[in-house]
Amino acid sequence: MRSNIVLLAFMIVTSTALANDPVTKPIKPVPSKDEVTSSQKEESKATKEAAPIRESKAAEAARKKEAQAADELAAKIAERLAVIRKDKDESNKPIARPYVRTYSVPIKKSAEIEQKPKKSEKSQSAHWSYEGEEGPLSWGKLNSANVKCDLGERQSPIDIRDGIKVDLDVLNFDYKPSQFQVLDNGHTIQVNVNPGNYVNVSGKAYELQQFHFHRPSEERINGKGYEMVVHFVHRDRESKLAVVAILLELGETHPGVQLVWNNLPLEKHEPIKALKNIDLMQFLPKQRGYFTYMGSLTTPPCSEGVLWLVMKEPVQLSPDQASIFARLYPNNARPIQKSAGRLIKESL
Ligand SMILES: [Zn+2]
Repeated sequence: MRSNIVLLAFMIVTSTALANDPVTKPIKPVPSKDEVTSSQKEESKATKEAAPIRESKAAEAARKKEAQAADELAAKIAERLAVIRKDKDESNKPIARPYVRTYSVPIKKSAEIEQKPKKSEKSQSAHWSYEGEEGPLSWGKLNSANVKCDLGERQSPIDIRDGIKVDLDVLNFDYKPSQFQVLDNGHTIQVNVNPGNYVNVSGKAYELQQFHFHRPSEERINGKGYEMVVHFVHRDRESKLAVVAILLELGETHPGVQLVWNNLPLEKHEPIKALKNIDLMQFLPKQRGYFTYMGSLTTPPCSEGVLWLVMKEPVQLSPDQASIFARLYPNNARPIQKSAGRLIKESL
């Protein structure tokens, strides 16, 4: 997707450059002989009259005339070019000439072109990070779409404490071994899985979209942080999100994490399709007790209304596995947000 936009942007720039060349060149020598001589005449007249104010007025008039003529000429050239392009476009359709195609794309889809550069501008202005000027304290100011990062009152992550202990519904995981892609999106390692994996919560089915990692864990339990956390992001039919957080502590090698690391892409923003399927059930702890509360995305735009399901029992990964992630992302955790009296529920 991103590479398509980049390619399209490149094509636009190339075609604009190609299209502009013949336009800009004739514009410079635009003042035709007639205009030059007439303006010279005016100038010489003005000199004879030896009136500096009139002289500048005459020069101004000449400049205006020149500019008008240049505009007219440019418009005519543009008109001619459009006709030439159209002819080329139609006559060259069956012939594979890539540089001709760079003309045809922008002409045929002018509306799309106007949109696409805007999109890339938007994504550029939406840059954010975990430190420095674009760090978590600035997210809300980097883009108007991120206003919740600053002003939201139900943000994540939180230090999970003082929950009410109740008999919570069992989380029913319907996860299958799945095809997957690994993506380094510049903020984390994200694993996109094929559709068809669900978690059922209180009679509602949420489909798994992707999972990704943070180091250290974003959430804390009674003040305690963990080595890492993996967030399984699900969406229901109404596009509501439910995120299952699985805390990772140092210990035994984790086969699922290893399979993801084996397929780490060499380049950012270019997903790698793995040849093996991933067993998603391997990521779940044996005990299925959990905490639940309403929060937000922990990355811009920090949208709220996210159902959080934080598994109480951590799973293990080896120190080597943790250090591999640390080389890529030593710190990609949003700081703890105010729980602001939110109700937290905890399995018995
Ligand atoms: Zn996350």
